[in-house]
Amino acid sequence: MNNDNDQGFITRNLHADRADKPEHGVLHKPIHTSVAYTYDDARDLAAVFQGKMAGYNYGRQQNPTVNALQTRITKMEQGITSTAFATGMAAIGSTLFALLRAGDHMIASAFLFGNTNSLFNSFRNFGIEVSFVDTTSADAVAAAIQGNTRLVFTETIANPVTQVADLAGIGQLCQQHGLIYLVDNTMTSPWLFRPVSVGASFVINSLTKTIGGHGNALGGMLTDTGLFDWSRYDNIFDTYRKGDVKLWGTTQVRKKGLRDFGATLGPEAAHHLAVGSETLPLRMDRACDNAQKLAEFCDSHPRIRKVYYPGLSHHPQHERARSLFKKTGSIMSIDLAHDIDCFDFLNRLQCVIASSNLGDTRTLAIPVAHTIFFEMGAERRASMGIGDNMIRLSVGIEDIDDLLHDFSQALA
Ligand SMILES: *Cc1c(COP(=O)(O)O)cnc(C)c1O
Repeated sequence: MNNDNDQGFITRNLHADRADKPEHGVLHKPIHTSVAYTYDDARDLAAVFQGKMAGYNYGRQQNPTVNALQTRITKMEQGITSTAFATGMAAIGSTLFALLRAGDHMIASAFLFGNTNSLFNSFRNFGIEVSFVDTTSADAVAAAIQGNTRLVFTETIANPVTQVADLAGIGQLCQQHGLIYLVDNTMTSPWLFRPVSVGASFVINSLTKTIGGHGNALGGMLTDTGLFDWSRYDNIFDTYRKGDVKLWGTTQVRKKGLRDFGATLGPEAAHHLAVGSETLPLRMDRACDNAQKLAEFCDSHPRIRKVYYPGLSHHPQHERARSLFKKTGSIMSIDLAHDIDCFDFLNRLQCVIASSNLGDTRTLAIPVAHTIFFEMGAERRASMGIGDNMIRLSVGIEDIDDLLHDFSQALA
């Protein structure tokens, strides 16, 4: 292939597998299931274990099918390398476990995916201080920085209220203060936005969502952008302070996070996710266009009190979303009129499915307060702007007229 930097995102992605000449001239990367590997010369086995030679040793740490997916996502995110995990949560948990120590402080968005919020609360039990701040404001993040602050974690578009973080402002701040900047890009995906463009050190994607796109496999990915200066980071163990300094952080995550924690992505799941990822741009464009039309429809419907979607001009970060992202996403939420029972509404929907996932080809709807944000309690929900009659929608790729018709009849 020619220099693949000359190619567009979609072409590069479709042809990614052939870059490292797959066996027998196959067009699609095979599913490799072998857990262990051998070498003609036993010394090579030792060299691989010692990191002196590239190669595979054990399936918890590396697998050719998973590696092909890592390469693919690295190219999408314009990073230097990626590390796959069994789920998005495993990617987040293993990364922070590997990079933080007791006595460190981290700043996280106050509007996080529910399980990420729960995980960060658990970190407090291990001596890590966590401040949850409004990341739509870089000033709020700046005010939370302390002497022991190590990193800032934010999502791009928050779920379910769709706040858009000040991604560029926080990027500048992290650079000034030498902080690791972790951006969870799940809601936007590398098709709509590349966090490397705002100075992110690492990008997290839950592959389960739009990248896989078909609700048939779980996976998570950590992409290293190569922008962070690890020589200034005390938490890197001496054993990993060798070789290319750009890779010290990822090396520690691969050893202490992936290898020791063991939340490895399996090859079958990697294959499903890789096939799904080939159509990410097509699905995402269509889902975003559907979301925009559905949001406009809901916004003018008398039975809906409020619509949360960054593509609407009254959204508080509408301009920011339009300047940062190619399109404004496929996630939106609505507050139903007080006299509509949210469960009756969901039961009346015929095309739209009541379910928890995001980024599926099908449109999914969930009553937020009663499900995904139930555990955190009413007080924290109220602080996040989540009311009892809020429905979150993950808009799919159906014919838009069918979606509009389904909403009309369910609201009638
Ligand atoms: C779903 C999700 C995760 C977790 O991903 P899993 O693959 O379900 O573990 C993390 N962050 C965001 C923003 C998500 O939507």
